[in-house]
Amino acid sequence: MAEKAMVFIDGGWLYKCRTALFSKLGEENFEIDYAKLPRLLCEDVANALDEDVSLVRTLYFGTIPSARSGFNTSKQYAFYEFLERNCRYQTNIQEINVGGEESRSQSTWVDVSMATNMVYYGTLPTVMDIAIVVSDNVDLFPAIRRVRYLGKRVQVVTARGISEESLAALGVGDFDPIYLDDHAAEVKLVRERVKRVCKQCGREEETTWAGPDFFCSNCRGRHRTP
Ligand SMILES: [Zn+2]
Repeated sequence: MAEKAMVFIDGGWLYKCRTALFSKLGEENFEIDYAKLPRLLCEDVANALDEDVSLVRTLYFGTIPSARSGFNTSKQYAFYEFLERNCRYQTNIQEINVGGEESRSQSTWVDVSMATNMVYYGTLPTVMDIAIVVSDNVDLFPAIRRVRYLGKRVQVVTARGISEESLAALGVGDFDPIYLDDHAAEVKLVRERVKRVCKQCGREEETTWAGPDFFCSNCRGRHRTP
């Protein structure tokens, strides 16, 4: 029977990690293939274990600077909705007031939430055999140790050159850390250009848009779905 893996992603950490991926490929910017990432990590663990690994769920933790801080949060909420709907992530998002007197650290909320969830799923008897932790933050290490005491295995994911803590990640898990920059080419989102028929006028046009309804460049804007 396949080992059951759950993936815990620190969204802020992953965002910071992008620069290591860009420099690995000598590019300035690209998008991460969020749908592919958890499966890729499971494959890596499966190779290390020489056993089948089945992805149970991906949990994503992130914060949004609250609207009270003067930020427009709609883009970020749209991104989290994309993770939920298109990538089947379970997102754990908190609006945090940044700036001003009540200013709070965004990473504290993420660390505590990740630690709580890891230990919670670790105590459930049949849900998770392996926790794949996408972060090398030392604040998570006590929780990682606790999960291991519970008999679960932990895979830590780190990246070279983005964090001084990546060295500390060497000894904390059950396996050698996965270096995300080694997978930069696989993690990079490659959008396929395909010909699609416009829902409004029926004209064919090349596009990288993979959503359900396609509108051509002429009709776009006038008939955009809300
Ligand atoms: Zn059209």
